[in-house]
Amino acid sequence: MFRTVFHSIDGNKVKNYKSLNRAYKAIFEWFGNHGKDRSAHVLLSGPEIGTETYRAQHEVPYKPKVKTRKLNHGMWVKVRAEVLKRDNYLCVRCGNGPQKNSKRAVEVHHKISVEEINRSVELTYLLYAPSNLETLCDLCHLDETIKQNTSRNSPD
Ligand SMILES: [Zn+2]
Repeated sequence: MFRTVFHSIDGNKVKNYKSLNRAYKAIFEWFGNHGKDRSAHVLLSGPEIGTETYRAQHEVPYKPKVKTRKLNHGMWVKVRAEVLKRDNYLCVRCGNGPQKNSKRAVEVHHKISVEEINRSVELTYLLYAPSNLETLCDLCHLDETIKQNTSRNSPD
């Protein structure tokens, strides 16, 4: 059991959590509501951690899950058409164009990936910024997607 004592100007509140991660999550969210309270702090005690004190949200070792924002369909269709036209419907890597009855469709790729963009609100504009978009054939797109996944998974 992880015993958590929340101290704020409204008084103290004690809660127990079964897992450490649950406790961290609760503390993280609690600071979200008590960020302006300078006296706010949380004591957390439990097996293997002893007693820890947190005085601010950023000190809590908890990473909230990033919500994946989907592309707005209307906006995406519009900007996608613009980028395809700008690139003459040709893959900017290998020059392939759309071919009849071929799977080599021309695709529009996010140079800074949608996942990366979704990590920060300030990057949202990149979802629809032509400067972050390029036309690729499906093969080059696959290539790029693999590269992006690999660089994401490898340690910096
Ligand atoms: Zn290509």
